[in-house]
Amino acid sequence: MGVGGNVGDVKRRFRHLVFALKRASRVDIVKSSIILKNPPFGYENQDDFYNTALEIKTSMNADRFLSFLLHLEKRFGRKRSFVNAPRTLDLDIIFFDARLINTKRLNVPHPHWSERESVVIPLSYM
Ligand code: AMP
Repeated sequence: MGVGGNVGDVKRRFRHLVFALKRASRVDIVKSSIILKNPPFGYENQDDFYNTALEIKTSMNADRFLSFLLHLEKRFGRKRSFVNAPRTLDLDIIFFDARLINTKRLNVPHPHWSERESVVIPLSYM
């Protein structure tokens, strides 16, 4: 999964996220990557982003896992304002095994992942 944020103490929030994932049943962290600091895209008048990637093993299906991530985003204070706006925590499913999923709520692999340094660089340092 992809993890990002650019509001407040993002690295501290990432550590808290890792604690929350370690405590969660049905979820194991298999690998984690470097934390990349990179400039925002889309809406550029905002702080740099921090991005990282985690490889997760889970017994949840993809849809259930997405609900779990949305719940974590809320818990870590995410407010949705506009597209590409500053964010406390953004959690994305990049891949889910080798599945192709295209439903109303979920597109996996995550669209455009291969064009984004914020995803590709962390993935190559797992
Ligand atoms: P965002 O503003 O990027 O956090 O978008 C969140 C929404 O994107 C969620 O409510 C999901 O329904 C949808 N979505 C579609 N595909 C994915 C994916 N692979 N990972 C996370 N969210 C996704």
